[in-house]
Amino acid sequence: MIIRHDALGMTRPIQAIIHTDALRHNLMVARRHAPHSKILAVIKANGYGHGMLRVAQALKDADGFGVLSLAEAVTLREAGFQQTLLALEGLFEADELPLAARHHISVVVHSEPQLRMLEVAHDLPPLDVFLKINTGMNRLGVADKDFPNFYERLRICKAVNAITLMTHFATADEAPGIADQLTLFKQLTDGISAPRTLANSAAILRYPKTCVDWVRPGIMLYGATPFTRESAAQHDLQPAMTFQSEVIAVQTLQAGDGIGYGRCFIAEKPMRVGTVACGYADGYPRHAPTGTPIAVAGKMTRTLGRVSMDMLGVDISDIPEAAIGSPVELWGKQVPVDAVAQMCGTIGYELLCAVAARVPFKEHG
Ligand SMILES: *Cc1c(COP(=O)(O)O)cnc(C)c1O
Repeated sequence: MIIRHDALGMTRPIQAIIHTDALRHNLMVARRHAPHSKILAVIKANGYGHGMLRVAQALKDADGFGVLSLAEAVTLREAGFQQTLLALEGLFEADELPLAARHHISVVVHSEPQLRMLEVAHDLPPLDVFLKINTGMNRLGVADKDFPNFYERLRICKAVNAITLMTHFATADEAPGIADQLTLFKQLTDGISAPRTLANSAAILRYPKTCVDWVRPGIMLYGATPFTRESAAQHDLQPAMTFQSEVIAVQTLQAGDGIGYGRCFIAEKPMRVGTVACGYADGYPRHAPTGTPIAVAGKMTRTLGRVSMDMLGVDISDIPEAAIGSPVELWGKQVPVDAVAQMCGTIGYELLCAVAARVPFKEHG
């Protein structure tokens, strides 16, 4: 039995176990695919829901870390991490510049206002910048026609130290691939001697030629897949999170009985149903339909009916040993988070990021 007292003094049998050995293994897989690149481990969104500092500690051999905000980068610096720390969207306000400079935080520069901030700054120790070029993702980045001028202005800017050239792929994980974006990036940057960074997890796994000076793995480090049709296991990735709970009640149903709100599942024959202490307020997706994979007492089965706020139903008709107190894996080593996500019409990324703050976390490995 798992008994944990969380901050609220509750003893619900739910927790997320973070496998630090899996994180380290997955970093090694990234290195195997990109043996000549430095690795910027992406730990935004609280380390994809695994805990930013916990992940950074497990991946302390990474050459750098990518985060969202300056505040996160400063937290890492203050925790003693000495490697490159990159704010992936750059700074939002000019008054963040001195703090970034003082802590040697690298910043993405993707827009004219961010460039202006640097141009008008004075008495600032120069910053390392990652110049982001829009090669077709159309989210962040300098337009191709503006790039030469933008690069030149950065190059002569007194507030700028090293410049790394960066782009991000829109379809590294699916059919169109990266060819157009890679060609444009090469055309634009040809002849410029500066380090480059292109690849996210999908590109690292699929397009070795995109593994240049730096690579930026995210999801693969957590042992989930960036692809729809290839599993994490196929790429030798190990799940870094086990989201687990227990059966807290067992119901016996006759044919015609319904389960949960709306009775959207009706038993066609006599069944045994387990009630699990995990609901959408824990971060389990409410839109998980009947049939979503889940494991009870080490056996694969399926969810039944609507997910409630704090509970969900599972089919234990074929698991006679299942009883109150039986362990349940929502996702982890046995139930790939990607399989749950696929049933919910989403991706593993979203589920991992959404585990609720009320769930106690524990490290293992
Ligand atoms: C999130 C992010 C990554 C990591 O992407 P994955 O698909 O998780 O590997 C890489 N680069 C940038 C700029 C990102 O924002």
